[in-house]
Amino acid sequence: MVAREHTFKQSVDLMFERAAATLDLPSGLADQIKANNNIYMVRFFVKCHGSYQIFTGWRSVHSEHRLPVKGGIRFAPTVNQDDVEALAALMTYKCAIVDVPFGGSKGGLCIDPREYDEEDLERITRRFAQELIKKGYINPALNVPAPDMGTSDREMAWIADTYRNMHPEDINAIACTTGKPFSQGGIQGRLEATGRGVFYGIKEFFNHPQDVKDAGLEGNLEGKRIIVQGLGNVGFHAAKFLEEESGARIIGIIERDGAILCEKGFSVEDVAAYRAERGLAKGFPGATYVADGKRILEEECDVLIPAAVEGQITLENARRVKAPVIAEAANGPIAFEADDVLRQAGKVIIPDAYLNAGGVTVSYFEWIKNLSHIRFGRLDRRLEAHRGVQIIDAIEEMVGKPVPDHLRSKLSYGADELDLVRSGLEDTMSTAYQTMREIRNSRDNVPDLRTAAFVIAIEKIAQAYIEMGL
Ligand code: NAD
Repeated sequence: MVAREHTFKQSVDLMFERAAATLDLPSGLADQIKANNNIYMVRFFVKCHGSYQIFTGWRSVHSEHRLPVKGGIRFAPTVNQDDVEALAALMTYKCAIVDVPFGGSKGGLCIDPREYDEEDLERITRRFAQELIKKGYINPALNVPAPDMGTSDREMAWIADTYRNMHPEDINAIACTTGKPFSQGGIQGRLEATGRGVFYGIKEFFNHPQDVKDAGLEGNLEGKRIIVQGLGNVGFHAAKFLEEESGARIIGIIERDGAILCEKGFSVEDVAAYRAERGLAKGFPGATYVADGKRILEEECDVLIPAAVEGQITLENARRVKAPVIAEAANGPIAFEADDVLRQAGKVIIPDAYLNAGGVTVSYFEWIKNLSHIRFGRLDRRLEAHRGVQIIDAIEEMVGKPVPDHLRSKLSYGADELDLVRSGLEDTMSTAYQTMREIRNSRDNVPDLRTAAFVIAIEKIAQAYIEMGL
C-alpha cells in the first residue's frame, strides 16, 4: 500500500476546495456540492465450494443534481468506503466537465476476483446486485453502474439480468447498467471508450502549440516517447491508439509484476498478447525488464500515463518524476501534495476528471440507446449513403469527369454506430479540453488544467442547484 499524506477522498476534496476558493459562490453551496449525499454499505454471504463467505460492498451517491447518478463498480481486495466516496465525487465532476447529464456515484466490492472461478463470481455479483437493487442503488432512472477495475461487460450483463428478473415490468430494465456486451444491449465502442478518450484528450493537448511549448515540448504526437502504467482496459486502449493512430512510441509499460522498456517503442497488441499467454510482461523479446516497476514512473519520457490505480505519485516520488506532461488516465493517480510539487516544477497535468471521462461519455450514449430501444444509425445510415451517391452523380454531371474511387467510397458511406460513437466521443473530449484551457488562460486565479476542470464542474453544478431553487 502506497503511503499517502491524505486519504483519496481528502485529496479530491482539497483539489475541489482549491478551485472553489477562486469562485464567488453563495455561502454553504460549495460544501453542499462537495459532500457525498449518501452511501449504502452491505454485508452478504455466498456459499462457495461448501463454505459460507462474507463479502462487504458499498455504493455511494455523491450528487443527485442530475438523475440517474452514474459510476462504475470496482472489484478489488483494497476497496474501502473512503475510496468509493472519492470515486463517486470524481464521477460528479467528470460528468459535469464533459457535459454528460448525470450525477455521480461509485460502487465497490471487497474481493480479489482472481481468486474465484466464473461460476462463483457470477453468484457473488448477482447477490451484490440484488442487495443494491432492493435499495434503489441500481435502477435505470436513478443509479446506473458501469465497469471499473476488476469488472467488465460480463458483470454488467449479470447485473442487468438480475435487475430484469426483479423488475420484469420495467420496459427500460436493460438501461440499468452500461458497458454491457453488445448482444445484451451494449453499444459499439464502449469497451475501448475510456482509453480512446484518453487518446483524444492527449491529441487535443498537442493540437495547441502554446500548451505544448509551455510544457517544454514541440510538434505533435508523432514520435513522442510515452510510458504507460497499467495495461488493463484503459491503459491498453490508450497506448494502442496512441501507437497506432498517432505514431507515438510506447517506450515503457509498467505492470504489477515490473516494467518493460524498449526505446524504439512496443507493439502494444504484442505485449498484451504475450501477457495474456504468460501472465507476465517479464521476458518480452527485445525489452529491458525492471523488477521495481514503480521506479519507471521516474524515467525520462515526453508523456507519462498512469492508468492503473490511485495514489501512485506522492510526496515520496513526485520530485523525481521527469515527464513534462502527466496524463491521468487512472482516477486519482496523483495525491494532492504531489500535485503541488509537480505544478511548481512546471509539469503539465491533464487531469483525471477530464481525461478518463470517455467511458462515462459512451455510457451516456449506451443509456440513450437503451431508452430509445434502437441502435444509432439504424434509421439514417442508408439515407446518408444514398445522399452521398446523389452528390457524386451531381458532381460528375457538372464536371463531366468521374469522381475517383477513393473519394467515391468515402462520399457514399453512411455512418454506423461505431462511427457515430467515436465522433461523439472525439467531439466531447476536444470541446471539454478547449473549455478547460479557455478558463485557465482567461482567469488569473486559475493557473492549471485541474483547477480549471474543477471550476467548470463547480460552476455547472452550482447553477443547477441555484436554478432548482434548493
Ligand atoms: P483494469 O483492472 O482493467 O486494469 C488495471 C491494470 O493496472 C491491470 O492490468 C493491473 O494489473 C494494473 N495494475 C494494478 N495495480 C498496479 C500497480 N500498482 N502498478 C502497475 N500496474 C498495476 O482497470 P481499468 O478499468 O483499466 O481501470 C484503470 C484505472 O482507470 C482505474 O483508476 C479506474 O478507476 C480508471 N477508470 C476506468 C474506466 C473504465 O472504463 N474501465 C473509466 C474511468 C476511469
